[in-house]
Amino acid sequence: MLNGHTPQAKGQIMLPGIKTVGVIGAGQMGQGIAHVCASAGFNVKMVDISQDALDKAQATIGKNMDRLVSRGRLSDADRNTALKRIMTNVDVASLESCELVIESATENEAVKKQIFAQVCPVLSKEAILASNTSSISITRLGAQTDRPSRFIGVHFMNPAPLMELIEIIRGIATAPDVFDHIRAFAVKLGKTPVSAEDFPAFIVNRILLPMINEAVYTLYEGVGSVDAIDTAMKLGAHHPMGPLELADFIGLDTCLAIMQVLHEGLADSKYRPCPLLVKYVEAGWLGRKSGRGFYDYSGEKPIPTR
Ligand code: NAD
Repeated sequence: MLNGHTPQAKGQIMLPGIKTVGVIGAGQMGQGIAHVCASAGFNVKMVDISQDALDKAQATIGKNMDRLVSRGRLSDADRNTALKRIMTNVDVASLESCELVIESATENEAVKKQIFAQVCPVLSKEAILASNTSSISITRLGAQTDRPSRFIGVHFMNPAPLMELIEIIRGIATAPDVFDHIRAFAVKLGKTPVSAEDFPAFIVNRILLPMINEAVYTLYEGVGSVDAIDTAMKLGAHHPMGPLELADFIGLDTCLAIMQVLHEGLADSKYRPCPLLVKYVEAGWLGRKSGRGFYDYSGEKPIPTR
């Protein structure tokens, strides 16, 4: 037994050959996941409650693929074939034929729970259900479905088409064969999988988000301006992006949700979300996706707001 995992016999579960991947949520992560899966030869069915989000996602995927073509990293023909593999729909019933569904909707447990209640009755018994959650317990999410042994965390990094890593998180009930199957799927996507145990925020965000939260405290306490903090970490620690720039890129609502999961899940005051982060989210200043966060994105160049 390791970290609460009871060993289960392998080879006892029917595994579906994955041809069609469902993606629920067409936000910045869902569109990246759809891009990666279609480029690797899988058919993709992308669902969102918002038709506008689906239209924007398709346009963004097209633009991102065009950029790869212009850099000589993708051929014209491969882009066209990949784009044709992506279908969109506002109805979860369209996911019926998917062997794997990756939920990547808003980081809110109630939203995810409602999605699972809608999608489970539509899927075949063998289908695997995964969540791209950044922080919520995979065991608890899996327990809210009809298939905890076929439920798994598949955590892509942002932007999914460019980042090499996928964290694979096994809930306590996830079957070992399902874990191996999804690990192999991640390799087929051209990614490097790492296994993370089911603890709040897993590996990357357990380390990254407290640093971002500390950067917001550093701003809140007036230790430095937005520009000073980001410049300090870029030039002083060789980070490719400053922490506040990165927070805007991730989405401040997602950052706050992850800090709340760490704070509640680990019951340690060191994870207390910075009040300034809470205020920005309350104001609807969510970063790049809303046009304003620690930077203002309305002009040609992002302008620091403090
Ligand atoms: P986002 O706000 O860009 O997109 C969320 C999408 O979910 C929206 O298009 C919204 O319309 C849709 N949605 C909401 N409720 C829905 C429902 N009931 N059915 C279908 N669609 C619904 O968020 P995001 O940044 O793409 O994050 C999505 C998930 O990915 C979250 O769980 C987040 O923690 C995780 N994640 C985010 C990052 C990141 O850097 N932003 C990185 C890795 C993982």
